[in-house]
Amino acid sequence: MVPYGLGLLALLLFLGVFPPTAPWSDRFLVPLVALGGGLFLLGQRQAGWGLGLLLLGLGDLAWTWEEVRGLPRGLGLEFPYLFGYAALTWSLLRLPPSPPRLSLLLLPLGLWGLAIALRPGLGLDRIYILWDALLLLLLLPRLEPLFSHGFQGGRALLGVGFLLFLVGDMAYAFLAAGEGYPTGHPVHLLWTLGYAFLTLGVAEAQGANRPFLHPALALGGLFLMPAALTQEPTPWGVRFLALYGGLVGGLGLLYAVHLEWRRTEEQGKRWTRFLEALARLSPSVTQTLSPEAVLLGALEAARHLLPQAVGLEVRGRRGLVGERTPHSLPIPLNGDSAYLFLKEPSPESIPPGFLSLLGERIKQVLKQVEWGTLALTDPLTGLLNRRGLEAELPKLLALARRYQAPVSVVLLDIDHFKRVNDTYGHPVGDEVLKLLGRILQASTRREDLAVRYGGEEFLLLLYGADRQAAKEVVERIRYRFRTQRVEPIPYPLTLSAGIAGGEVPEGEEVLEEWILRADYALLRAKETGRDRVTLA
Ligand code: GH3
Ligand code: MG
Ligand code: MG
Repeated sequence: MVPYGLGLLALLLFLGVFPPTAPWSDRFLVPLVALGGGLFLLGQRQAGWGLGLLLLGLGDLAWTWEEVRGLPRGLGLEFPYLFGYAALTWSLLRLPPSPPRLSLLLLPLGLWGLAIALRPGLGLDRIYILWDALLLLLLLPRLEPLFSHGFQGGRALLGVGFLLFLVGDMAYAFLAAGEGYPTGHPVHLLWTLGYAFLTLGVAEAQGANRPFLHPALALGGLFLMPAALTQEPTPWGVRFLALYGGLVGGLGLLYAVHLEWRRTEEQGKRWTRFLEALARLSPSVTQTLSPEAVLLGALEAARHLLPQAVGLEVRGRRGLVGERTPHSLPIPLNGDSAYLFLKEPSPESIPPGFLSLLGERIKQVLKQVEWGTLALTDPLTGLLNRRGLEAELPKLLALARRYQAPVSVVLLDIDHFKRVNDTYGHPVGDEVLKLLGRILQASTRREDLAVRYGGEEFLLLLYGADRQAAKEVVERIRYRFRTQRVEPIPYPLTLSAGIAGGEVPEGEEVLEEWILRADYALLRAKETGRDRVTLA
C-alpha cells in the first residue's frame, strides 16, 4: 500500500500547490516527487531506478532554482540529469524484452520526438530529446509482454510513467523551441505524474497483480496526458503528441486487459475440463480400473491444463505412462514420488493448486482401485473370486462377441485334496492351493479369466480357445501341477478337469450352461479314475 500512498500524496500535493497564478510553485513539485520516488525506490533496493529518479529530482531542483533566480543555464548543472538518464537507461535495459509488435504503434511518438530534436531553436535540451527517443525505443520491447505474456500491473504503470515523462519532455522542448516556454504551463503535470507512476510501477513489479486497480490507475494517467495538454495556448504540435500518446496508449492498455481477461476465461474453461476429467477418473463396480489406466486418465486430465504434459510416473510401484522427459514437475503424493513430464518447459507458470489436486486425486483413485482389487480377488491365490468373475465377465463376453472369438470353460478340481489336509494339515493344503494358483496364472493369457470358484475348485474362461486348444492348455497345467512338489508331500499331486463351450458365447446364460456342462464333465473325470481331462 505504501507506493499508492506515495502516489496519492503526490497527486494531492500537486493539486494543492498548483494555483494558476503561481508560476513556479508547481515546479518545486516536480523535483519533490522525483526525489521522493528516488528515495523510496532506493529504500526498496531498486538501486538503478532509485538513483535515476533521485538524480533527475536533483537536476530539476537545480533547474528550478536557476529559473527562479533568473540565472542562465549552464552545462555544469546538467550532470545530475545526464547521470539520471544513464541510470534509467541502464535499469530499463535490465528488464527482459520481447520482440515488439503491437507496442510499435507507439513508435510515432519517438519519431515525433526526433523531429522536435531537429528544430533549430532548441538548445541544450536537444540531448535529452534524443535520449528520450532512445528510451522509447528501449521501452517498446519491454511493453510487448503485456500483450504476449499476460498483464502485469507493475509493467503497465511503469510504461505509463515513462510515456508521461517522455511526452512531457517532448512537449516542453516543442514549446521551448517555438515561441518560448509559457510559464506555468501544465506540462509539469506530466513530469510529476511520470515520476510518480514510474515509482509505482517499479515498486509494484514484484508485488501482486491487482486486476482492477492497476489498469484503472494506468488508464487514468494516460487520460491526464491529453487532458493537460489540449487547452489553449498549447500549439497543435503538442496537442497531437498528447492525443496520440493518450489514445494509442489507452487503447493498447485496454486491449492488453482484454487479452488478459480472455486468457483468464480460457484458463477457467481448461480448469473445468481438468476437474471434470479428474472426477470421471473413478473405478465403477462393473468396470475395474488398472493402476496404469488411472495414471493414463490422470495424464489426460492434466493435459487439459498443461498441454505440454507427455508422461506421468509414480515411482516405486506403479510405473510410467507416456514418456519420460528432462522437464519434470514433482507431484505431491505423500510416500511415493510422482512426476509429470513435459515436452518442453511450460511458458506460463504452473497454475497454483494444480499439482497437489492432481496428486490428491491420483492417490485417492489408486487407493480405490486397490480396495476394488482386494474385493474382487481371492487373498490366498491372487486369482479372481466369484465377485471378480461377475465384474470381469461382461468385458470378456463383449470382446468375444466383437471379434467372434470362441471361449472355452474349464472346471478344475484337485484330486483327494481332503487327504492332503488330513495328513499334512491345512497350512500345507494352503500351499498346494497357492501353487496351483501360480500355475493357473502363468498358464493363462491376459484376456483369460482364472477364478477360484470354490474351496479347491477353479474355473478358467479361455478366450479365443476352442475345446481342443483348451484341452492343450489344461494338459499343460496338469503336467506342471504333477511335476512340482510341495513339502512335505512325497507323492505327485494330480487334478481332474472338465471342459465345455469352445464356441462364440451369445450371452451370459450360455456361459452358465457351459459351466454346468463343464462341471458334469469334471464329475465324469472323477468317476473314471481322476487325473484326467474330459470334454463335455
Ligand atoms: P476329490 O478327488 O473327489 O475332489 O476328493 P477331495 O478330497 O478333493 O474332495 P473335495 O473336492 O470334496 O474336497 C474339498 C476339500 O477342500 C474340503 C476342504 O477341507 C478343502 N478346502 C477347501 N478350501 C480350502 C482352503 O482354503 N484351504 C485348505 N487347506 N483346504 C480347503
Ligand atoms: Mg477335490
Ligand atoms: Mg472339490
